[in-house]
Amino acid sequence: MSASKRVAVVGVGTMGSQAAWRLAARGAEVVGYDRYAPGHDRSAAGGETRIFRSAHFEDSRYVPLLKHADALWEELQRETGRELRSLTGCLLMGPTEHQQMATVLKSIADHGLDHEVLDAESLAKRFPQFRIEDGDAAVLDRHAGFIRPELTVQSAARRAEQLGARIHRYTPVREIVPVAGGVEIRTDAGTESFDTAVVTVGPWVNDLLPDLPWDVDIRRLINAWYVPTTDTWFGQERPAFIRTAPTHCYGLPSPDGVSVKLGLSRALHRPAGDPNQLDRTVQPEELEIFTDLIGRYMPDLNPDPTRLSVYMEGYTESSRPLVGPLPGAENVVLLAGFSGHGFKLSPAFGDIAADLALDGTSPQPIDFISTLDRTEA
Ligand SMILES: Cc1cc2nc3c(=O)[nH]c(=O)nc-3n(C[C@H](O)[C@H](O)[C@H](O)COP(=O)(O)OP(=O)(O)OC[C@H]3O[C@@H](n4cnc5c(N)ncnc54)[C@H](O)[C@@H]3O)c2cc1C
Repeated sequence: MSASKRVAVVGVGTMGSQAAWRLAARGAEVVGYDRYAPGHDRSAAGGETRIFRSAHFEDSRYVPLLKHADALWEELQRETGRELRSLTGCLLMGPTEHQQMATVLKSIADHGLDHEVLDAESLAKRFPQFRIEDGDAAVLDRHAGFIRPELTVQSAARRAEQLGARIHRYTPVREIVPVAGGVEIRTDAGTESFDTAVVTVGPWVNDLLPDLPWDVDIRRLINAWYVPTTDTWFGQERPAFIRTAPTHCYGLPSPDGVSVKLGLSRALHRPAGDPNQLDRTVQPEELEIFTDLIGRYMPDLNPDPTRLSVYMEGYTESSRPLVGPLPGAENVVLLAGFSGHGFKLSPAFGDIAADLALDGTSPQPIDFISTLDRTEA
């Protein structure tokens, strides 16, 4: 490994802040650039909470990466002295025969994950705030809970700076130019030269890299916050929760104990359009689906939202992110298309970015998300 490499991190958001921390921790000379400042809410991070879970329902190949992320979450908390993650559990509810439930049960069995399977009677007794339907199962992933996204991005960026990284705030990168043996980063302030660049610009990926050979579909995601009608709604355990079908949705109790945040899956969100012109106004008709879900599954929430926020996220066709060298530019490492499930894994992706930028390869099992030999459109 060449620890003295000069590495640019383009986009110091969820993945970029972690990459800057991991690179600086290994002694690289790190320069970060962000169009805003670490911890802002105009992109994929924000809204106070993100779910952390060990039982991955998208694909059990993520479980080893989750274990790596888990260790790094602990390390980042130790190094910063901040509580970035609270392990309050995550309750997964949905039809027993649904593919996501089957993947979760497989993840649990294959990797010996800490969990409980609840029947309808025990669910009603222990978590009376939720209703389930005939044929539903409920699984409580115990090594799960919520992450504080704004605090995490700021803490990782700050830790990187303490370790020597420099971060240029309010400095959008206009162009990344591969040159012999390195890469040039162009901003309105001028051009800087690096050995390698890590590109983590989230929803701006098509904007900055218009010739990307894969589709990254940028969606506009709504989060809505609701207040319970009873003081007992939250109970003692306060798990995050996910309903797999017929409408995939998720929720998290707010850390302040006042409200519950609800969100929906990819298919229920419209394209974001130009990321610089994101429509942050939520129309009343966009709330109908939330009202319907509350009526069916969480009838003790008041269906009048107390807060609405809009974010963006990039989705690949397979929902697997793109991690690895940019085609035709071996000194540019791309991390993009986290498809609604990247936050929990972000310290692992930051570490993998550092592996790839410094060593050209990673010991982590990333073949299934690699940009190398990627065939999907
Ligand atoms: C509403 C919502 C809920 C989610 N819930 C969960 C969850 O519960 N659990 C989970 O694991 N994941 C969740 N996700 C997914 C997760 O948040 C994302 O996968 C992750 O935040 C993506 O990180 P990123 O680094 O790619 O993008 P971002 O965090 O958006 O970072 C991109 C950064 O690049 C900067 N930038 C852009 N263009 C430039 C440029 N030209 N020059 C310099 N800087 C630039 C931006 O300002 C930004 O800071 C959710 C996402 C959303 C939107």
